Amino acid sequence: MTTAVDTVPPGSDPEGLDRFRFLEARQQPTWPDAGALAAVAGRLGVAAPLVVPAESERLTARLAAAGRGEAFLLQGGDCAETFADASATRIRNKVRTILQMAVILTHGASTPVVKMGRLAGQYAKPRSSDTETRDAVTLPAYRGDMVNGHDFTPADRTPDPRRLEQAYRISAATANVVRAFTSGGYADLRQVHEWNRGFMRNPAYARYERTATEIDRAIRFMEACGADFDALRTVEFYLSHEALILDYERALTRVDPGTGRAYDTSAHFLWIGERTRQLDGAHVEFLSRVSNPVGVKLGPTTTPADAIALAERLNPDNTPGRLTFVTRMGAGRVRDVLPTVVEQVTAAGVAVTWVTDPMHGNTITSASGYKTRRFTDVLDEVTGFFEVHRGLGTVPGGLHMELTGDDVTEVLGGSEEISDDGLALRYETLVDPRLNHQQSLEMAFRVAEMLTT
Ligand code: PEP
Ligand code: MN
Repeated sequence: MTTAVDTVPPGSDPEGLDRFRFLEARQQPTWPDAGALAAVAGRLGVAAPLVVPAESERLTARLAAAGRGEAFLLQGGDCAETFADASATRIRNKVRTILQMAVILTHGASTPVVKMGRLAGQYAKPRSSDTETRDAVTLPAYRGDMVNGHDFTPADRTPDPRRLEQAYRISAATANVVRAFTSGGYADLRQVHEWNRGFMRNPAYARYERTATEIDRAIRFMEACGADFDALRTVEFYLSHEALILDYERALTRVDPGTGRAYDTSAHFLWIGERTRQLDGAHVEFLSRVSNPVGVKLGPTTTPADAIALAERLNPDNTPGRLTFVTRMGAGRVRDVLPTVVEQVTAAGVAVTWVTDPMHGNTITSASGYKTRRFTDVLDEVTGFFEVHRGLGTVPGGLHMELTGDDVTEVLGGSEEISDDGLALRYETLVDPRLNHQQSLEMAFRVAEMLTT
């Protein structure tokens, strides 16, 4: 049989980076202008990288440690970033939330935390339908700011390849400010109290203050002992997003002249979503060719055979840290579905870091019509994830969350008890509901407890 792949002239694509073009790629926009797309791809193809290979390699080592239980991954950020919200304040609030959660986890569980944002590139979304109809008008669905605009007008909803370049530029600015915050003193552990300023009303904040005070005391003790605290001034902070729009990911992929290996330089870590993880699909093919650490989301229909086959495709050398499985089964399914998957993957000798995404299996529509999640369901899935791994003697390696540093009202419950009526107050997300700042800290305290038991 002759396949399209056979038509690539021999030697023209030694790294196989364009083979994905001959396979089915789900969830791609229909770009209206092939010429404009090619021009954008050409410019992105020679643009400066957002991350460098050495950083991605270091992350692989960190994720391998998380897979062994010697560290814990904390990955969080918006469901979808928007161009309009890429302000320094919003970005700082997200980074601060992750730093605070990491402090809670590190302090509570004495575990190094690998900090990663869904940040600086999380601009594309898979959708359940290609179109949206309102009042008898049908337009393309919103696929994220990288593809089209959210307003329900033909002009906004028509995919525009120039948005890929805009996404790159805004991601570069975001990455720059994240690097400044995490290396320029803001992330200094001696600022633990400062990060909480203005937030003291809530029980989660009061509890955080107590943690911060204990950390302060420990630092003063160590300083008095003459310890060198350079390590506390900066943190490693990694960038990640779903590798969905393959024209963007391909254009930002570079071959490292030193090693001859390809890296997707749009982020340190890329993941494949639940809807695009087909074994014979374009997304798995493309990410199999790059050397970054990669993730795959695994929903409740995942079979052990699927998971093992994905590992063989994406990590044929079985390198620890290269592959992360992000399970998102739902609170009601995790205890039934996850054990067999983990058991058989483990029995097959597959090296993988297991992470829980307790958000995407627990989405509901509230009585008032909002897409939301219950804090209790989110917590229950994390609890189930820990129970399953503890039961099997495998390692719960991390937490993948949709969260924001702002005071939104998108997820039901938490100690502020956001109710159905309360959702309308500050429901800002364009796609999935996020934990707010306070709910995120509360979650971190609960997970720290799970890590120690
Ligand atoms: C997401 O992470 O926003 C997402 C769409 O997840 P999943 O692929 O797990 O549905
Ligand atoms: Mn989402």
